[in-house]
Amino acid sequence: MATQKPLTIALSKGRILKETLPLLEAAGIHMLEDPEKSRKLIFDTNRPDVKIIIIRATDVPPYVQYGAADLGVAGKDVLMEHGGAGIYEPLDLHIARCKLMVAAPKDAAPIHGRIRVATKFVDITRRYYASKGQQADVIKLYGAMELAPIVGLADRIVDVVDTGNTLRANGLEPTELIAHISSRLVVNQASMKTRHQEIQQIIDLLADAVAAKVQGESA
Ligand code: AMP
Repeated sequence: MATQKPLTIALSKGRILKETLPLLEAAGIHMLEDPEKSRKLIFDTNRPDVKIIIIRATDVPPYVQYGAADLGVAGKDVLMEHGGAGIYEPLDLHIARCKLMVAAPKDAAPIHGRIRVATKFVDITRRYYASKGQQADVIKLYGAMELAPIVGLADRIVDVVDTGNTLRANGLEPTELIAHISSRLVVNQASMKTRHQEIQQIIDLLADAVAAKVQGESA
């Protein structure tokens, strides 16, 4: 039998990587070097049949959708924006929790007519305002959303909020909750069929690690 290519797991640097690695370790998958200290993009693990690639958070869904990665970890915000084509989302990892929110300048008057909203979550924002029946001009930005209302680029922003400190520091406040966010394990739909046993084993081990962690946090 031909040797199968290694299973590839796509992760992104920062919060998700930091919180995913302990879960992977509990599932018996250890990275052989510290990815935060390396410029490499592809890493070996203690399991010869498992490799890890480190890419941008927003690139995880397309890598998994097209099968360049069999598995990945992505925030629900990024998954909602991507739309989820070709991807299964079998497990909530309960990490990198935050909220996707509309934010406005502090004490701003409500806007009932057409509204201008700056965000990197263009599709989510369009869908949100469409569901409210409010016309919205959505402006795509790639960062520093908080600046947009201050300089008059937009009336509102849509962004992920954790402590709310970044909003407060810029004279903004969260006004509407769009979704509760956490990171999810995602799986390429074709891989889930062709490599079901290997992938299901990793899902089960991660599910146990998540359950143990959540139980520990609530104890
Ligand atoms: P905050 O704690 O609300 O001041 O959040 C600081 C910044 O980190 C915000 O501008 C968010 O864009 C970002 N952020 C917070 N939580 C998350 C998360 N779970 N995933 C991705 N980005 C986040």
